[in-house]
Amino acid sequence: MTPIKTDILVIGAGSGGLSVAAGASQMGADVTLLEGHRMGGDCLNFGCVPSKALLASAKQAYGQGHGARFGVADVAPQVDYAAAKDHVHDVIAQITPMDSQERFEGFGVRVIREYGTFISPTEVRAGDQVISARRVVIATGSSPLVPPIPGLDKVPYETNETLFDLREKPEHLLIIGGGPIGMEMAQAHVRLGCKVTVIEGMKALGKDDPEAAAVVLDALRGEGVEIAEDALVSEVAGQAGAITVSTQDGRSFVGTHLLLAVGRKSNMDRLNLEAAGVDVTRTGIKVDDSLRTTNKKIYAIGDVAGGLQFTHVAGYHAGVIIRSALFGLPSKAKTGHIPWATYTDPELAQVGLTEMQARTQYSTRLEVVRFDYHHNDRAIAERKTTGFIKVMVVKGRPVGVTIVGHQAGELINLWSLALANNLKMSQVAAMVSPYPTIGEVNKRAAGAYFSPRLFENQAVKRVVGFVQKWIP
Ligand SMILES: Cc1cc2nc3c(=O)[nH]c(=O)nc-3n(C[C@H](O)[C@H](O)[C@H](O)COP(=O)(O)OP(=O)(O)OC[C@H]3O[C@@H](n4cnc5c(N)ncnc54)[C@H](O)[C@@H]3O)c2cc1C
Repeated sequence: MTPIKTDILVIGAGSGGLSVAAGASQMGADVTLLEGHRMGGDCLNFGCVPSKALLASAKQAYGQGHGARFGVADVAPQVDYAAAKDHVHDVIAQITPMDSQERFEGFGVRVIREYGTFISPTEVRAGDQVISARRVVIATGSSPLVPPIPGLDKVPYETNETLFDLREKPEHLLIIGGGPIGMEMAQAHVRLGCKVTVIEGMKALGKDDPEAAAVVLDALRGEGVEIAEDALVSEVAGQAGAITVSTQDGRSFVGTHLLLAVGRKSNMDRLNLEAAGVDVTRTGIKVDDSLRTTNKKIYAIGDVAGGLQFTHVAGYHAGVIIRSALFGLPSKAKTGHIPWATYTDPELAQVGLTEMQARTQYSTRLEVVRFDYHHNDRAIAERKTTGFIKVMVVKGRPVGVTIVGHQAGELINLWSLALANNLKMSQVAAMVSPYPTIGEVNKRAAGAYFSPRLFENQAVKRVVGFVQKWIP
């Protein structure tokens, strides 16, 4: 077969790869895209989309059982778990056309549905095709990490790649791993009527601000999720319907189903990176600030680059490398303005530094301002008063924001804008928010920065006193 010559070869049609392919082809580059599995990658098929869709089913179920305080009688929700999964797959199906082979071919992208393997620093084999490219973008994503726990090879377990196809409702779901994926799935399942136990080796939601994480964990415990922390798993035993997870400190947990949510492993095995002269680290492909690998003609973006593993990061990376690969312009990936959110109820969102990180970095120069949801009128009306925002401020500019509460994932957008553009607190405070919105929480937090400066400042009081006395 004649070798294909292309400007940009993209390996992996997930969030990152598709963004590069769409952008580069629409700007006139000849683009070839390889995908060995499903178009759309993890986010569409096994990640963000199905998890948020299942949480939406769970929210409906929860609402039915908690209407009385709004004057609407509580009813025990009749959950059809298989139908909830139908809903999940319907949502995926609605979004699938956006990521489809046909749509990308419509942009002029050459789509090859094969896994890619390097055979030289500039050539990749995909099926029986050999492709040589001016620039290669590796966007192969990540897979669920399966740790070497004794007994795991003999016990059936789910990962994010199988869970959304499971149609029988787990009576008691054991989840190993208390990170964002584990906690989202814990709440989804407890609300859908399953018993849920989370077994976490360290602290649940341990990468987040501990005070904010505690709010989420309290809420989940309040809904009946059992969360065992400092529970390092030593062994798994049993069979379908009766699985025992034992921990090093002698605890054991028995459930009907097991979900592994202990982290991610970068997808590098199939790539034969040695042939390309691409080095790897413990977490993924080694890249510099501009996302170039140790072979300067090859970039790595998204989860496989081993940094922050989110869809919006993969999309952001795509923009960074398009600038460099297409226009030859210097372009660097930054992390300080990247937000993330965990979509439990309440939600937990973060951008920039946490309070602890900011204290270490800025010490006494740091001011932390906060505002609690229970002072927000819309939150009161919706009975969603649990939560707070805290803003870490240095010299009048936010350097980090933590929000836990209703719609925290939406509220963080404003602070992402502020951090990305190095805005001042005064610019956020100048914004007028419609009343009554949850979004007023943001403005009030900015206001909290200025209140002591205005209301507790003797000089301000003297000026006002003078003006009132002497100016007609
Ligand atoms: C349960 C779950 C929930 C999540 N929720 C969120 C969320 O709410 N928000 C968020 O921002 N992120 C979320 N994520 C993370 C998000 O899914 C990933 O960060 C994102 O998909 C990474 O995009 P990517 O382009 O790097 O990789 P992917 O989207 O995984 O795409 C990689 C693609 O490459 C293909 N591939 C692999 N090797 C090869 C090869 N050699 N040749 C050809 N093709 C190959 C794979 O088949 C895959 O389709 C979630 C993840 C999980 C697991």
